[in-house]
Amino acid sequence: MENADIFSDAIRRLGQASKIAQIDPEVLERLKYPRASLQVSIPVRMDDGSLRVFEGYRVRYDDSRGPGKGGIRFHPQVSLDEVKALAFWMTCKCAVVGIPFGGAKGGVTVNPKELSRLELERLSRSFIRQIADFIGPETDVPAPDVYTNAMIMGWMMDEYSKLRRQRMPAVITGKPIPLGGSLGRDDATGRGAYYCIKELESRRNWQPSEMRVAVQGFGNAGQHVAQLLHKDGYKVVAVSDSQGAIYQPDGFDVPSLIYMKNESRRLKAVYCDGSVCESVHAEKISNAELLELDVDLLIPAALENQITAENAEHIKAPVIIEVANGPITSEADEILGRKGALIVPDILANAGGVTVSYFEWVQNKAGYYWSLEEVHEKLHTIMVREFGNVYELMTDEQTDMRTAAYALALRRIGAAISAHGTGSYFSSDEA
Ligand code: NAD
Repeated sequence: MENADIFSDAIRRLGQASKIAQIDPEVLERLKYPRASLQVSIPVRMDDGSLRVFEGYRVRYDDSRGPGKGGIRFHPQVSLDEVKALAFWMTCKCAVVGIPFGGAKGGVTVNPKELSRLELERLSRSFIRQIADFIGPETDVPAPDVYTNAMIMGWMMDEYSKLRRQRMPAVITGKPIPLGGSLGRDDATGRGAYYCIKELESRRNWQPSEMRVAVQGFGNAGQHVAQLLHKDGYKVVAVSDSQGAIYQPDGFDVPSLIYMKNESRRLKAVYCDGSVCESVHAEKISNAELLELDVDLLIPAALENQITAENAEHIKAPVIIEVANGPITSEADEILGRKGALIVPDILANAGGVTVSYFEWVQNKAGYYWSLEEVHEKLHTIMVREFGNVYELMTDEQTDMRTAAYALALRRIGAAISAHGTGSYFSSDEA
């Protein structure tokens, strides 16, 4: 699916949800367009003395509920359309977990693997200089995304603080802990998904030891959710990365898998060719086969568009937790819906990350830092509450969980837009 299609697909889903949300049609019309988009050129002095100019974007989609919030992506395929779609998703995600942020996203069209560390730092700082007037703790708060990390957020915060001539940690989240990062940010996405699964467990009387789980994408989010489930007795029977997948019907010892994956950087090392993994007996399968396994829980935690009209008929898992953003296309959604699958949608299932980013912003503004236990407890409270709200709406309206999540988000965004004063909001000279 092209990036422009991802955006129209997302808008289409909004249309279905608006019938349940019963919001003013003008709110829906407003949400079809981003509030502001910025396109910048970023000159960077390369190590060999030459000058290269990169393209970058920042889109603030909606700020009715608070400052824009969303990551910065460094990737060769970044385009304005992609950034726009991702910013729209962030708007819905922040609304569905009820945190006081709107949605935004940024990106630079670059392959960061081709840059030296110093070039990467110059690019990050230069990008912040170009977008400095567009972001800020009360206007738009960036964070890490694909191929950006805590170190890059640290450089960006430092550059922004220099421009403003004061320390401003709340301008960006996902920072290193010594620069004002929050404890618990590293596993927040996986943990948020795990809390959703625990809510389903109690509603559906699951016995963890009888639950077989397959995780596609054994990266940051996938590893953490697998580890937390394993600790509770769930059987993680299959995991994968971009190199392939492994399957063990009796369940893996997840901490050993994580150790091996991180030692070797690739799951290939656990294909039992080397000494360290002789204790792990696993069958090698493909990523496509992993998705079609007969398991109780399927967790796509890799990329978008993994379950499509082509393979949806073959998916056997009755419950799917979307840890990745957009892993199921809307056509596949319909097929799975007909088959009776329950899908916990991305805007709820992976919202733990942005929720702890919100905690980081709050701690930066207060200058008071929480313990790991406090972060976990507050994340748990929000995830349980909002999972319950979405589940209840789904049951009451006899709809699917994705439509219920979008409807809840729409109601909250609509209420904020109305509270700003609907008359002036829609007048043509409104700022
Ligand atoms: P990551 O880079 O740490 O991990 C991604 C994993 O997917 C890697 O192990 C990679 O090898 C694997 N992968 C790549 N291509 C694959 C393929 N074709 N088949 C199977 N595996 C493949 O990234 P992450 O931070 O864990 O993010 C994973 C997903 O979760 C993304 O969609 C991301 O947008 C979403 N997400 C992450 C966060 C977060 O805080 N980390 C928050 C919200 C959403």
